[in-house]
Amino acid sequence: MVRVRYAPSPTGIQHIGGTRTALFNYLFAKKNNGEFILRIEDTDQKRLVKGSIEALLEILEWLGIKPTGEIIYQSQRLELYKKYTKELVDKGIAYESQGAVFVKVPGEKTFSWTDLVGNKKISFGGKTQEDFVVLKSDGFPTYHLANVVDDHLMEISHVFRGEEWISSTPKHLYLYESFGWEPPQFVHLPVILGADKKKLSKRHGAKSALDYKKEGYLKETILNYMAFLGWNPGGKREQLSLDEMVKLFKLEDINTANPIFDQAKFEWLNGVWIRSINDLDKRLEEFYSNDKDVLDVLRSEKAKEIVNAAKSRMKTLLDFKALVDKNPAREKTDKEKEIARKLLNFLNEKMGEKWKDEELLAAMRQFSKENDISFKTIFFLMTGKESGIGILELNQIYGKDHLIKNLQS
Ligand code: GLU
Repeated sequence: MVRVRYAPSPTGIQHIGGTRTALFNYLFAKKNNGEFILRIEDTDQKRLVKGSIEALLEILEWLGIKPTGEIIYQSQRLELYKKYTKELVDKGIAYESQGAVFVKVPGEKTFSWTDLVGNKKISFGGKTQEDFVVLKSDGFPTYHLANVVDDHLMEISHVFRGEEWISSTPKHLYLYESFGWEPPQFVHLPVILGADKKKLSKRHGAKSALDYKKEGYLKETILNYMAFLGWNPGGKREQLSLDEMVKLFKLEDINTANPIFDQAKFEWLNGVWIRSINDLDKRLEEFYSNDKDVLDVLRSEKAKEIVNAAKSRMKTLLDFKALVDKNPAREKTDKEKEIARKLLNFLNEKMGEKWKDEELLAAMRQFSKENDISFKTIFFLMTGKESGIGILELNQIYGKDHLIKNLQS
């Protein structure tokens, strides 16, 4: 039976790297009809940050990678850790000093395991390991002890965590051995790097899934992109839904190389997802639930057409507002004003009562050619924007009055 756990410490809001660990656990559990458990490792009382557990739960809920069963809080299991500490002392493995309990790792030992990322054997000599604390003087266990005790008691089959924990694994293996327990399999995920090839961190502007949500990223994009930070099922497909990823997920396809968080790619993928979901209007309503101007647009008669026209030009939901804002992006220069007047006269002469697409296009071409004015300029004069929803689409959605108003303003 596959049983995995996501074991965050609530010492701040997890950035995307931590949430990626949750996702890999989830994918592996679902793929193998196993269980995915959430265990809050809240034993370092000094480092607890208020609100981090709430944020964590909100992220999992929003992304739809919900754990099975109850949430385990290590701070509620202190008696258990004390009991196992005593066992280590009784066995002569641990000793007490200054109110804390330490484990001494015998120098002659070697600790090895085959890491399932890349199937590589990793070994550490006992001499590399300093004595380490298992129970602090405040009665709380350290990460090492609580982690091993719980992984054992919860019958965890595979431990997924970032490769920064590799150096702790020999200590854990020594604890398993000392208790006479079978260790789980280890899956140390390659650490995510920023564009500068340094470990992605808060200082890099590494953000949490909730920050990305606020910036108008879809949950589909976040899940999809996170999975590809360290995993690739082969083939050329870059857009995969959570269900598809579950079906394709294999440990052999986790890369040993460190993935780089590529902001441009992330944005591109969000655009792809924005164009593929079929409830974009609903997502926009949720996203702009406090923005009356945008809500008015979304509830207008032309909402469907507007969303459709905007869709292909959006990288984030945030882009929608600028696209549908009817106010010009900037004032026209005097020269532009002159061209606008000329263009308006020209169109008035050329076009009939209703501006038909082909006629409008032909007229713009002719004006552009005869006066040596770029389409870019014409676009700005008629839409008020440097880029955005096209002239023909605006003509369809709002009618010619909108374009005339821009030329006149
Ligand atoms: N509490 C550790 C963390 O915050 C868990 C590491 C592990 O999964 O063993 O990452």
